[in-house]
Amino acid sequence: MNKKLAIVLPAYNEELVIDKTTNVLLEIMDQMIADQLISSDSFITYVDDGSRDKTWNLIKDLHIKYKRVRGIHFSRNFGHQNALIAGMTEYTGTDVDYVVTLDADLQDDPKAIIKMVKLANEGKNVVYGVRNYRTTDTWFKRFSAQTFYKFMNMLGVQTIPNHSDFRLVDQKVLNAFSEYDERDMFLRGIFPSIGFGTAKVYYARKAREAGESKYPLKKMITFALDGITSFSVRPIILVRNLGLTMVTISGLFLLYTLWSYFYGYVEDGWPMLMVSIWAIGGLQLLAIGVVGEYIGKIFIEVKHRPRYIIEQYLK
Ligand code: UDP
Ligand code: MG
Repeated sequence: MNKKLAIVLPAYNEELVIDKTTNVLLEIMDQMIADQLISSDSFITYVDDGSRDKTWNLIKDLHIKYKRVRGIHFSRNFGHQNALIAGMTEYTGTDVDYVVTLDADLQDDPKAIIKMVKLANEGKNVVYGVRNYRTTDTWFKRFSAQTFYKFMNMLGVQTIPNHSDFRLVDQKVLNAFSEYDERDMFLRGIFPSIGFGTAKVYYARKAREAGESKYPLKKMITFALDGITSFSVRPIILVRNLGLTMVTISGLFLLYTLWSYFYGYVEDGWPMLMVSIWAIGGLQLLAIGVVGEYIGKIFIEVKHRPRYIIEQYLK
């Protein structure tokens, strides 16, 4: 029995690329079906993340034209990660054997899916797509991503460097994943923590086919901070140690001041005073901010709101 594959693509305002993406993927699927790698009832699902352009209408047209194209439409924009979760959740506990997730803009090389499926057919449960170079991304994007992965590792969060959300997971992994109940999911940290048999497939990351990035700097920063705070409490420890150091230093200053007083030096310590006040005030604010960040997370988790709301299905 050949395995049934579902390809899940989050799409937000992707009207310029969606036709091309569909054609490329259908062609690759046909080839894989011909090569007996996957079953003939394998399919593609677009998760429309509340697009404001014609994306959903185009998906509807594609669904009519090709029986292999399906769709899920969110009631509004819930973000890339939630679109991925919706796609994976949809096929958990079904007859789908593998789910591959990739971006709708063809930046991830769809041909790598063939290698992923081969590895899965050999028994791997998770196959990560890893970029071997990303010259097509801007200098800033590469730099910020690299710094982010390094920092995450420093904080003890295991991620796969240069892997975004292009991966294959099988039904076993989907089942394990469904046990993760937190609202705020950082998928790139969760999958490596699930375990099972894993493999990597290397590919060259291309430039976007059309349209522009939906990840402006602000979204990138939020994403990075979420990743850190939902996986690690080390920032709290870091701030605590910083606070201890500051207190020690100000203690030494105090000794120095007393010493100068008893030995009759004239103390013109205004600059020192101002610096201390500002440094300590700033530190306190920072510490409160960090603690607040975690309390905010608890607040969000406790509410247990739905991660996304689906308005319509094309099955
Ligand atoms: N995306 C989404 N919701 C969003 C932002 C992006 O579903 O709020 C999708 C987008 O359509 C694309 C993928 O997530 O398929 C990656 O986004 P993008 O290519 O803009 O990010 P970049 O490659 O620039 O990091
Ligand atoms: Mg992209």
